[in-house]
Amino acid sequence: MTRAVPVHPLVSPWGRFGLYSFYIDAPQPAIVDTGIASSPAEGMAPALAAIGRRIEDVRWILLTHGHIDHVGGAYALWEMTGRRAQVVIHEADAPFLRSRSAHVAEYRAGRGRYLRDPEGEAKVAAAADAVISGEMEPTLLVRGGETLSLGGDVTVSVHPVPGHTPGSVAYVLDGQRAAFTGDAVQVHGAANGFPGYTDPRAYRDGLEYLRDTVRPRHLYLGHPYRRADGTPYGVELDEAEARQALSQSLDIESRVARAACDCLRAGPQDTDSPYAPFEPVAEELGYTGDPTLEPSPFFTTLAGYRTHFDRTP
Ligand SMILES: [Zn+2]
Ligand SMILES: [Zn+2]
Repeated sequence: MTRAVPVHPLVSPWGRFGLYSFYIDAPQPAIVDTGIASSPAEGMAPALAAIGRRIEDVRWILLTHGHIDHVGGAYALWEMTGRRAQVVIHEADAPFLRSRSAHVAEYRAGRGRYLRDPEGEAKVAAAADAVISGEMEPTLLVRGGETLSLGGDVTVSVHPVPGHTPGSVAYVLDGQRAAFTGDAVQVHGAANGFPGYTDPRAYRDGLEYLRDTVRPRHLYLGHPYRRADGTPYGVELDEAEARQALSQSLDIESRVARAACDCLRAGPQDTDSPYAPFEPVAEELGYTGDPTLEPSPFFTTLAGYRTHFDRTP
C-alpha cells in the first residue's frame, strides 16, 4: 500500500457514555464496530455527512466482538447500506449477532453466577431487546488469518485476540500498522475501573501478540480505557501510547492473576461483601468500584480465573 488510508472516529451517544466506531476511508469504505441500535442514524450518519461521506456507501461492517455495545447497531447499519455491506465477525462471537438470547446465556454462565440479582437475567434480556437493532446471520465469518480487500491496494488482516470474549479479533490496516482492537486491550478497564475478560490466559496471549507481532503504530480502542491513576487514554493511540497501554494491560493482568490465585487457593469466602466471594481480591488490588454495575468486569474476570483455576489446579 502506497498511501495511508484516513481513519475517522465516529462517536455515538449512549446515556452518559460515548460509543466509538471507526470509519476507514478506503475505496470500499469500512466501519469498525457499530455501537447500539440508534448509533448508525444518530451518531454515524451525521458524522460521516460532516466529512462528505455517505453511510449508504459503506461496504464493510467489521465487528471486533459480540458485545451489545459493538454489534447493537450492525443490523440497522447493514439496512442503511441496502444490505450491500459485508458483516464480518469471528465465528466464536457470531451467536451474539444471531440472537439476543446469547447475551443472556453469557450473563448466566459468567458474572450472573455471582451478582445475586434475581432480576439480573431479565435486565440483560431487556437491554439486549432495547439496544440490538436486529438479529442477523453474519455475511462473512472469520477465524483469523484472513485478508480482506477494501478496494484498490487497501487490505485489512484479521488477527484473533480472544480473551475479552472467545471471538475477539483485531483488524489491522496492512502497511500502516493501524490496529482496531475493540475491547481486547483493557488497561485498567473503562468506566467500571476494572479490566474485563472471560479467559485470562487467552487475554494475556492476545496482549503479547499485539505487543510483539502486530506492534501497532496506531491503536484504536473500543472505549477510553483508564490508566492506573484513573485518567483515560483516548481511543486513538500513537505508537508510544500503544506500547504503554499494552504493557500496563499486561501488568495489571499479572496483579489480578496473583490476587485471584491467592483468593482461590484459600477458598472463596461467602461473606456479605458486594465483592464476595472474591472480597480478598478487591482488597488486595484496592478496587473500590461498584462491582454490580453492568457489564460487571470484576465478576466477569474473576469468574474467568475461577474456571481457569479449576482446569489447572
Ligand atoms: Zn466488550
Ligand atoms: Zn465495549
